[in-house]
Amino acid sequence: MSLVVMKFGGTSVEDPAAIGRTAAIVAGRVALGKQPVVVVSAMAKVTDQLLRAAAAAAEGDRAGALAISSRLRVRHRETTAALVKDSAALLDLIDQEFDSLDEILRGLAAILELTPRISDLIVSYGERLSSRIVAAAFSELGIDAAHVDAREVVITDSNFQKAVPRDALIEQRAQTKLLPLTAQSKVPVMGGFIASNEAGITTTLGRGGSDFTGALIGGALAAEAIEIWTDVDGILTADPRVCPDALRVKIISFEEAAELAYFGAKVLHPATILPAVKKNIPVLVLNSRNAACEGTRITSLAPHCKSPFKSIAVKKKLSIIDVVASRMLMTHGYMKEIFTVFDKHKCAVDMVSTSEVSVSLTVDSNDNLPALAADLGQLADVKYEGKKALICLVGDDIRGKNGMAAQVFNAVRHINVRMISQGASEINMSFMIDEDDADEAVRSLHAAFFQDPDPAIFDVEARRSN
Ligand code: ADP
Ligand code: ASP
Ligand code: MG
Repeated sequence: MSLVVMKFGGTSVEDPAAIGRTAAIVAGRVALGKQPVVVVSAMAKVTDQLLRAAAAAAEGDRAGALAISSRLRVRHRETTAALVKDSAALLDLIDQEFDSLDEILRGLAAILELTPRISDLIVSYGERLSSRIVAAAFSELGIDAAHVDAREVVITDSNFQKAVPRDALIEQRAQTKLLPLTAQSKVPVMGGFIASNEAGITTTLGRGGSDFTGALIGGALAAEAIEIWTDVDGILTADPRVCPDALRVKIISFEEAAELAYFGAKVLHPATILPAVKKNIPVLVLNSRNAACEGTRITSLAPHCKSPFKSIAVKKKLSIIDVVASRMLMTHGYMKEIFTVFDKHKCAVDMVSTSEVSVSLTVDSNDNLPALAADLGQLADVKYEGKKALICLVGDDIRGKNGMAAQVFNAVRHINVRMISQGASEINMSFMIDEDDADEAVRSLHAAFFQDPDPAIFDVEARRSN
């Protein structure tokens, strides 16, 4: 049985037309003799709106929170009615879900404290609802679909809002909950992103985590491929919203894709690659609005690329922390002390640069920074500054190519560069600038490095036909 996991993002299930296109894509795979397992995100923007409702309720704005919920109820009901003829039972179920969501929001407006655990419970409604509606729509459109509650399959620890999957349990659950369905050629449809801990309490895998669910299920079932269906033609040479002439990358290695995802290319959740690598399962990034396009293939071995870089990623909302201590000059154990402070505040460091007396580190901007800086202040003089962005160029064998750094910094010579890192990884060169300069930097780098792209790797035809 050639099992494929097909993950559809928010825009691929955003309204009846999108769900119709998604059904046609899945039916197409079935017609080819494939056995799909489908993972869906919440309908586009629903997660953001649920988080907004939660924040409003926690601030005591009960009416505001309930108004958001009420608009979401209408949207889900209307989508259902447009797709499913005999929709009474599903509409009832949707109403029950919204009634319980409203109950939680009212409680929150009374307690005025939003914990990570309650936040996960509230956002989980997005995928709970979308997966029900998509499963029903598939059945209506002739696909033998079966809804599966993702929280019974994806088991995690209790690290709410960014829970860590328990691979062995997921493998067991996938076998007991999904294989009996696929054995009958049914198409399981489950929500991404949402999960539960071993006690059955709802957790989530972090924003954008539906890709991760797709990969976890693909890994657990040793799928033939993991397909990530989204709203662009694949992984592109830059974010097309920043750089409209970005090109599709036809093939890329697991390492390069992981690096891009980690350094901000939103098209893929950074953890997606891991389960795929473990079982060597190819990941395909495809466009549900342009299903004929072959997308991007992510595999263990990508062919050598003549162009120096495959893609440019940007990670925004970062802060830079400068730690300066002249009295620490050459003391051993100093770095350890600094990192112990970061560890204490559970603060992940993206990039580090050191000199004799100073260390600069970059971290995600977060509310903990003042406390972290105060602790570091016990060791040395500390300054920190937000609104920074990390630009990351990814390509195979950057280290082996001469003159790369000169070309990169020549392309952004009009921009002030705060920190540079190269050499830690053979496939990444990154530097830190002000967030306001980020889009301009990407466009300048793109113009410099994607003039004459290698046709074996990039879709140059698309550029010619534009
Ligand atoms: P989904 O809801 O399907 O998961 P996302 O919005 O999470 O979709 O990711 C797709 C978006 O990622 C694209 O619309 C695009 O704007 C953005 N993006 C950022 N960097 C890249 C890149 N290098 N290649 C393709 N898309 C990118
Ligand atoms: N719905 C979740 C989010 O918006 C997960 C996802 O779409 O991948 O973050
Ligand atoms: Mg996404």
